Amino acid sequence: KINIFWFRRDLRVDDNIGLYHAMEQDLPVLLLFIFDKNILNELPKNDARVTFIHRQLQALNEDLKSKGSSILTLYDSPENAWESLIKDHNIHSVYTNHDYEPYAKDRDTGIEKLLSDNDILFKTYKDQVILEKAEVVKDDGEPYVVFTPYSKKWKQKASKKHFESVPSALYFSNFFTHNSKLIPLNEMGFEESDLAIPSDQVSESILNNYEERRDYPGVNGTSRLGVHLRFGTISIRKVATKAKQHSETFLNELIWREFYQMILWHFPRVVEENFKTKYNAVKWSKSEENFKKWCEGKTGYPMVDAGMRELNATGYMHNRVRMVTASFLTKHLLIDWRWGEAYFAEKLLDYELASNNGGWQWAAGTGTDAQPYFRIFNPESQLKKFDPDLKYVKKWVPEYGTDKYPDPIVDHKEARERTLNEYKTALDS
Ligand code: FAD
Repeated sequence: KINIFWFRRDLRVDDNIGLYHAMEQDLPVLLLFIFDKNILNELPKNDARVTFIHRQLQALNEDLKSKGSSILTLYDSPENAWESLIKDHNIHSVYTNHDYEPYAKDRDTGIEKLLSDNDILFKTYKDQVILEKAEVVKDDGEPYVVFTPYSKKWKQKASKKHFESVPSALYFSNFFTHNSKLIPLNEMGFEESDLAIPSDQVSESILNNYEERRDYPGVNGTSRLGVHLRFGTISIRKVATKAKQHSETFLNELIWREFYQMILWHFPRVVEENFKTKYNAVKWSKSEENFKKWCEGKTGYPMVDAGMRELNATGYMHNRVRMVTASFLTKHLLIDWRWGEAYFAEKLLDYELASNNGGWQWAAGTGTDAQPYFRIFNPESQLKKFDPDLKYVKKWVPEYGTDKYPDPIVDHKEARERTLNEYKTALDS
């Protein structure tokens, strides 16, 4: 008999809670990753995240060689993959880590049923957050829907043990010995992407100066750990421990991440719907032309354009600029946040359903902790305040200040009035 550990968004061997629990049993542990056809079929063929996952599995395999093991990769729907695994192996238990997204929850419910019909146990663990699901709730047991009280309670609840790593190396002799080859990207119809991936290390100097520097897109002041937190190529416990030592502000950002994961888990409807349903009557503009200009960074508003061009070129956009571009799309162009959310989802290396949805609904004014609808960022003042020497804008919009740069596609004042009226009408209806 064997146990199986199923990797999903936790692509590391070190301090991986589900894997640790699988390893401490007496049976050999087969490592598994399923390239999920349901997810991959929706993605462009040069998707940088698929390359990233593939490279990470390759690196893990290199590391596992010395332990006589490797990761079994399958390219299929999870259901088919598990049906064949059940036929091919004598499985005692399957170990994996929690995933809070609606698709993942349904998938896991289905797989748990399939396994249980075959007398196989399905054991799942919290790994990607410090506190999950209903661990941080109001005194009456209801979920928080505002960040500040949530974060206070989070800090009360998060005790020393929540930050502790597990001693993974203790049981490394328990890997199932075999030599399985990684499925090449092209066999799954994908190409290597050459987008650069930020390092999985964050320097103490970034953390120590985080509070002062994090808001300036022209400055290298944030960690760029998003993609690693998304795919679990670093452990949240290690990152949060560093945050506690060096920067409360940075810790707060990690808590935002957990806040949105918690919101998605309690309110999966936010994937499609406004969190605040009172805004459902807002009539969004359907201007494909304006949307295209926004996507391409040709709106005539330099900070918006710089952000969109940074995103298109690198798969990354600075947080301040994510707020400005999202606000511009929803409040200046009055385009549905779902269009912008989908564009970010396709382009961001660190795309995270919970945080992206939370960020977009915040910007649109429809979300949990939302920016009130009548507070509309002025992209020019944002530029003066956060990129005063135009370092960021000049990097991404070199023609800014010449006659090649387009005129603004909308007038700030008029756009502002239109949006205020539309939101107000929707609220009154
Ligand atoms: P740092 O500033 O170094 O922060 C460290 C980590 O904390 C981040 O990597 C991230 O995991 C977390 N974090 C920081 N800010 C937030 C936040 N506001 N909400 C949730 N988590 C946060 N973040 C994503 O991880 N994926 C997304 O798809 C995403 N989409 C966004 C869309 C919009 C419209 C907005 C306004 C924000 C979005 N964010 C998203 C949040 C934030 O912009 C990014 O996490 C951050 O810019 C990533 O850069 P960094 O790793 O250098 O962050």
